[in-house]
Amino acid sequence: MKKRIAVLPGDGVGKEVARGAIEVLQAVGERFGHQFYFSYGRIGGVSIDQDGTPLPDETIELCKDSDAVLLGAVGGPKWDSLPGHLRPEKGLLKIRKELNLYANLRPTSYYPSLADSSPLRKEIIEGVDILMVRELCGGLYFGKPSERRQQGDKETVVDTLYYEKTEMERVIRLAFELAEKRSKKVTSVDKANVLESSRMWRETAEEVAKDFPEVALEHMLVDNAAMQMIKNPRQFDVVVTENMFGDILSDEASVLTGSLGMLPSASISTDGPYLYEPIHGSAPDIEGKNIANPIAMILSAAMMLRISFGLEQEAEAVENAVKEVLEGGGRTSDIAAKGKKNVSTTEMVEEIKATILDNEAILNIMGAYA
Ligand code: NAD
Repeated sequence: MKKRIAVLPGDGVGKEVARGAIEVLQAVGERFGHQFYFSYGRIGGVSIDQDGTPLPDETIELCKDSDAVLLGAVGGPKWDSLPGHLRPEKGLLKIRKELNLYANLRPTSYYPSLADSSPLRKEIIEGVDILMVRELCGGLYFGKPSERRQQGDKETVVDTLYYEKTEMERVIRLAFELAEKRSKKVTSVDKANVLESSRMWRETAEEVAKDFPEVALEHMLVDNAAMQMIKNPRQFDVVVTENMFGDILSDEASVLTGSLGMLPSASISTDGPYLYEPIHGSAPDIEGKNIANPIAMILSAAMMLRISFGLEQEAEAVENAVKEVLEGGGRTSDIAAKGKKNVSTTEMVEEIKATILDNEAILNIMGAYA
């Protein structure tokens, strides 16, 4: 198989983890006989510095011409004082809008070997397997107006929460379709006791549910969901929610696995290409130290292999290699095991690559005796 992949490393540790994911994909190509062609584009702070904008048109064109997009992370203190429209994060919001990426899928699974890295007790997180489906193109992050105002000597500010009902409907429908293939339960999270937008969200979820009689729908207020996620996370399977609630809840869910550095994501559009990125940011506090955990980015690449390219066996090879390395004790500092030496970003990538390629040797031997 031949595929063109646009790589947008971005800023901070985004560059370090994107490099790792590319090396892992090259190992997958070598093992399974695929050709992946990587083309690089700028986004975020690096692009503000070079192009004067957080997302140049040539990056948008590159993404639209590719079969899938891999993104590292954007942002950093260097650009924090720039006006809102010039912030690196605007590049991220713009690429989501340009590619029409309306749903962000964020799986959170329990790794037995990382039980000690989570701040929660093992009996609470054991067996957790949550798929968070976050609306990505609407809500507070995109609504206009979004501005500060000076009215006489009164300083005010406004952000707008705007949704079209069809935007709610398509992401909720996707959540139900995914739930049909999992444990047939959807938890829809909103703030219907306060927000009109949430009352429309709840109504829409009820309407969509009628088309999926085998899937159970429950509603949960976002404040309760935040609490339940920590108290009893096993009750959740597919969780669907609007943009900002999903942003916050999925970071909260990351502590279940031990670190932000473990959680991948896939952003789905109506007509492709899809975009894959870790849920963490550019982590300026650890930039350049070669200690960032590359697993979230590598697992995002595995999601790309499965969802965009239909390469299930290849995706599993990556996921199994990650599990094997963790079980063997390979840990970056964010998921460090007590009393054990940590590995660097590049060492973690090397171990995962070697495991993927070693598996081939084992498969060849098994094949010879089959
Ligand atoms: P962050 O996710 O960058 O970091 C939060 C904490 O998690 C930090 O302590 C960091 O060291 C740690 N961390 C994150 N990724 C890690 C990894 N792979 N391995 C080990 N530890 C990791 O969030 P933040 O500090 O709030 O934001 C930093 C910058 O990133 C800001 O400019 C923010 O706007 C931006 N940001 C970008 C994205 C994105 O590109 N999708 C998402 C969130 C934040």
